[in-house]
Amino acid sequence: MPSTLFANGKIFLSGVKPGINPSPTSQPTFAEAFLVEDDKIVAVGSVDKDSALHRALAMPHVDFVDLAGKTVLPGFVDGHMHLMILGHAKDLDDLDPLGRPILIDTKDLHFSWANTAAVKDMGAESWADVPGGIIERDEDGKPTGVFGEAANITYVWPYLASVASMEERKGAIKAAVKAYHQSGYTGMVDMAMDEGAWEAMLALKEEGWPDMRVACYWLVKPGRNEAENLAQVERAVELAGAYNAETGPDCRIVGIKVICDGIIDACTAGLSEPYAHDGTGCNPLWTKEELEPVVKRADEAGLQIALHAIGDATVTMVLDALEKYASPARRPRVEHIELTSEADAERLGRLGITASIQPVHADPAILKAWPRLLGEHRCKRAFAYREFADGGAPLALGSDSPTAPHCPLGNVYVGTTRKSFRQPEITTTVNEHFALGLCEAMAGATQGAAYSCFDEHRVGRLAEGCKADFVVVDMVWDKDRLMEAKIEQTWFDGRKVWEKK
Ligand SMILES: [Zn+2]
Repeated sequence: MPSTLFANGKIFLSGVKPGINPSPTSQPTFAEAFLVEDDKIVAVGSVDKDSALHRALAMPHVDFVDLAGKTVLPGFVDGHMHLMILGHAKDLDDLDPLGRPILIDTKDLHFSWANTAAVKDMGAESWADVPGGIIERDEDGKPTGVFGEAANITYVWPYLASVASMEERKGAIKAAVKAYHQSGYTGMVDMAMDEGAWEAMLALKEEGWPDMRVACYWLVKPGRNEAENLAQVERAVELAGAYNAETGPDCRIVGIKVICDGIIDACTAGLSEPYAHDGTGCNPLWTKEELEPVVKRADEAGLQIALHAIGDATVTMVLDALEKYASPARRPRVEHIELTSEADAERLGRLGITASIQPVHADPAILKAWPRLLGEHRCKRAFAYREFADGGAPLALGSDSPTAPHCPLGNVYVGTTRKSFRQPEITTTVNEHFALGLCEAMAGATQGAAYSCFDEHRVGRLAEGCKADFVVVDMVWDKDRLMEAKIEQTWFDGRKVWEKK
């Protein structure tokens, strides 16, 4: 049995159980050493003080790694990302001047532009309008090539997945895993699983699953009626029955995801007051009457529920639905929660709802339009992470990659300093009083994200009995110096899967 003793390091210990957030001023404790046997951590402490570690030092079959003062963090878990789109994003980049089909996704993935050839190839002329969807049409009713929100989700994404060959899809997953190892991740939470991507996941599993723990949420798209919506929930129930923590913990379906509104920048987030620049209002993509039966059925069937809600009106609606129909034991979660009333921010914790947040979306470099769209008074309510945490909501940090950079330390940097990671020269902060503490954010990006998908007993912590998933980082424990930190090695199941050259 291969054993390795890692010593002379700063081994991060958050000091709290998963599901609980450290306080904003908490300081982590750092152990000095840990012992790995096979795929597990079997002891954590100090070589001088702990007999198990001390004994290991003298055992000839135990390898010794001198960490030379480096920091060891649990392998990061991205609490919200899009695995298949991340892999395919590269394909869309190469623009073609020869009239071949071109499809461009906006950076936030809420809109796509297609040229004439692509409109034809996708068969978009036969697409019916969907609730909450935008299919821009000319005078004759023919699609011009602009697809937004629900239409993008219902038609364009599945089309992209279906035209990619199986080899391309498997390649996209492998490429995403490689990029993630390099950034220090050992786990991912995919937030929009569908048939095309899932088929590729299973095919790759046949060949040999890559070194990544992937939990998936089945995307329920707005159907034409309740029966169509519920049929998608039943499909998720069926898949979660076959692919779960018992049958395959590293490639499983945990629950459903519903995208309940759009984004502030496209004026498609559901707001309680009209947009400030033109006085138009925007409702959520789903009405309460459409959403409730989906939430009710999914929870009854034992699925976890993840609801995307960005605008304050949408947040209120989804919290109402979860309060009514979702059991706290199933750890319902709300994604993004960018604009909230104080009452709703406080309600998250009271209802046992995980706040799934993406600090990289709070980067001041990308929020320049917000004061005009929302008005200064509402900008002051943006990204109220401090209130979520103070209300007791478990925090899970994610990147929403590829809509935003996936670097975990950059994410923690924005969450703790509320400064720009994309353009570090910008000195503006975004509602600094809502900042998270460093220990708090680091826990949210590791054990918090693991807790958000029921994986906290295995990963997210450097503790006895946990999987040996960790990263070796050259860093100073200071939020203002996170940009200098360097991920040097990534370990998965007790094996080194990436090392900086
Ligand atoms: Zn997302």
